[in-house]
Amino acid sequence: MVERPDWLTFSWAALRGLWAGHMMVLRHLFRPAVTEEYPEYQRPLPARTRARIILTRDPEGEERCVACFLCAAACPVSCISMAGEERADGRRWARWFRINFARCIYCGLCEEACPTLAIQLTPFFEFCEPDLLRMVAEKKDLLVDHGGKNKEYNFYRRAGVDMVGGKGTHIGEAQPVNLKSNMP
Ligand code: SF4
Ligand code: SF4
Repeated sequence: MVERPDWLTFSWAALRGLWAGHMMVLRHLFRPAVTEEYPEYQRPLPARTRARIILTRDPEGEERCVACFLCAAACPVSCISMAGEERADGRRWARWFRINFARCIYCGLCEEACPTLAIQLTPFFEFCEPDLLRMVAEKKDLLVDHGGKNKEYNFYRRAGVDMVGGKGTHIGEAQPVNLKSNMP
């Protein structure tokens, strides 16, 4: 069998490569562009996208956070810190609350850990700063005037206050069963 010289094989391969490249360009030449112009066009993000964190309020307008430190304990990068205090009526609150967004990895574990639904991640992600110190958010930057994803939940009315009134009068509690009424 007569072998083709190497230069012939290489030239053939190069020509085939050139042809394939040009055909690929031609195929895409008349297709509509798929480029999304950011920030003119902003792709709608799912509601559960995890980005900037907020501290929410309960339906009565009170701060939900009771400074229990669970979010700080759950945070894998230790970027949450706070100081807790107790009001005259016994309700706890965070005197100050700080999140270092330069360290936050937006994992959502703080939101999972929070028993009061106070801390929540939102889809808003456009808050980067070249100066990392400006990425440290204080409570005034985090606290909002609404309930976030779950507007109805009021932790303090369910578990944060002592039982008042008789049996069956607490929120979400069923009236006690009258055993005698079950008798035939
Ligand atoms: S999202 Fe994750 S890293 Fe960021 S504060 Fe919450 S627990 Fe920490
Ligand atoms: S945000 Fe939630 S988990 Fe964190 S301290 Fe406040 S109540 Fe506790």
